[in-house]
Amino acid sequence: MVDPVIFARARYLIPMTETDGKLDRIEDGYILTSSQIIEVGKYSEDKGRAIIQKHGNHLHILGNETQNPSILDLKQINGAIIPGFVKGHGHDHESVLIGVARDVPLTTWLDEAVNIFTGLLHGDKEGSANPYFLQLLGKSPYFVAYRKARLDDVSFGITTAVTHHCNYNKYHVKELVEANEEAGTRLFIGVGSQDRNYDSRILDSVEEAIERLNRYEKEFGHLTRTIIIPGPDQLFSNGPELLIALKKWATDRNKIIHIHSSEEPATTAWFVEKYGMTPIQYADSIGFLDNKTLLAHQVNTTKEDLEILSSTGAMVVHNSLANTILGSGMPPIVEMLQKGIPVCFSTDGSGSADNQNMIAAARLASQYQKAYHKNATLLNSEEVLKRVTIHPANMLRVNAGILENGRNGDFIVFDLNKPQVIPTRTETVIENMIWASTGGEIKHVIADGKVLVENYKFKVVDFEEILLDIQKLALIFEKHKTSLKIRSETGVRSQDSSDS
Ligand SMILES: [Zn+2]
Repeated sequence: MVDPVIFARARYLIPMTETDGKLDRIEDGYILTSSQIIEVGKYSEDKGRAIIQKHGNHLHILGNETQNPSILDLKQINGAIIPGFVKGHGHDHESVLIGVARDVPLTTWLDEAVNIFTGLLHGDKEGSANPYFLQLLGKSPYFVAYRKARLDDVSFGITTAVTHHCNYNKYHVKELVEANEEAGTRLFIGVGSQDRNYDSRILDSVEEAIERLNRYEKEFGHLTRTIIIPGPDQLFSNGPELLIALKKWATDRNKIIHIHSSEEPATTAWFVEKYGMTPIQYADSIGFLDNKTLLAHQVNTTKEDLEILSSTGAMVVHNSLANTILGSGMPPIVEMLQKGIPVCFSTDGSGSADNQNMIAAARLASQYQKAYHKNATLLNSEEVLKRVTIHPANMLRVNAGILENGRNGDFIVFDLNKPQVIPTRTETVIENMIWASTGGEIKHVIADGKVLVENYKFKVVDFEEILLDIQKLALIFEKHKTSLKIRSETGVRSQDSSDS
């Protein structure tokens, strides 16, 4: 059977192309796509007729299940077609942890929520889950958490994401691959590692960390929508020998490497005391930084660090929701942009951001800088939208983030029928999407030419089953976390660790 060709026509098309430095705002736009975009632009009846003639029987008109469609079926949606969001940093394992350990600093939050949780779920060897959870759920608790995370992403219009697979999750990549392949999203899995300053039961030798990557790459390297990359937890928990080996592994395969950097003041202080350098100076001294190094957070950044980031080409993912909730501070985004450092906006995991609302994360990133610099002209809505689409796509070298012929068939339709975004005009459509959105306007989601969400309904994953499972998992965790705490009683560094 031939895969259907997806068609959508909407009141606005924001392809992320530019004219005279402004994003194009096309009225009555359309897109036609399979796994790659076939046509995109301003709609006309002539184009509609040609599309019907060429693709008629194979045409899937978004929001319209008609068989053998005619031109009358190519109706305009009251919405805006934009690229799917590209999330530069998150943690799929945290999808269960919303609302847990609130109003506490990062290290306490890690020890009271994330590390207990991920440790509890684990079995006694690599790849095995806690039999108690397995029995009660009838499936791997990791798989349950990862499926929910994919659902979260899709519901907020995220079609490409980087997940930093830290802690015990590094032993459970297989379940994550399965969850992603089922969900239809594109996922970079940063496989975690650590060999110091961490839970002693899960420390790696250099050989073990490299062997794990080799194994996962061999098993999953052929997949096109799931990409294995090294994801050492953070500079603090990975010694120089390990970091150098992981960076070489990535460079040899032309891959990105992903790591937490300079998230909270305590780790920076540790580096200064131990090495007489900031984490960035240290990373540079061991040759870890280049234009394929993706740094999450980079909150504590000195002037010298800015110079190093700029000269090495290292990339920064800013997570405003997590940085503010956990009281970590905020990075100097404006100064980074002035230096030409590649920066994108992201959410971080649901545990620290509490949701995967990319618009909310991007909005806060902008609002904070406007307030801090007392300058309302900074990071306008167009710039904000670019930092969750085209910029992260370019940083990840993904053929997405912009709607042009030959790009990946990833787009969403933002609903303009919601009260919070009415009225919208051509001059205000991007502004309203950024400043007035609640995040609940993502009506259709298409990734790789497949319909993941149509009219707010999930088309490929079993929404009810995932929600039932995740609720059950949360209740089991709550009920038994004290008696099952054995696994997380020792080892986790609570003083300095800023890993999540
Ligand atoms: Zn993180």
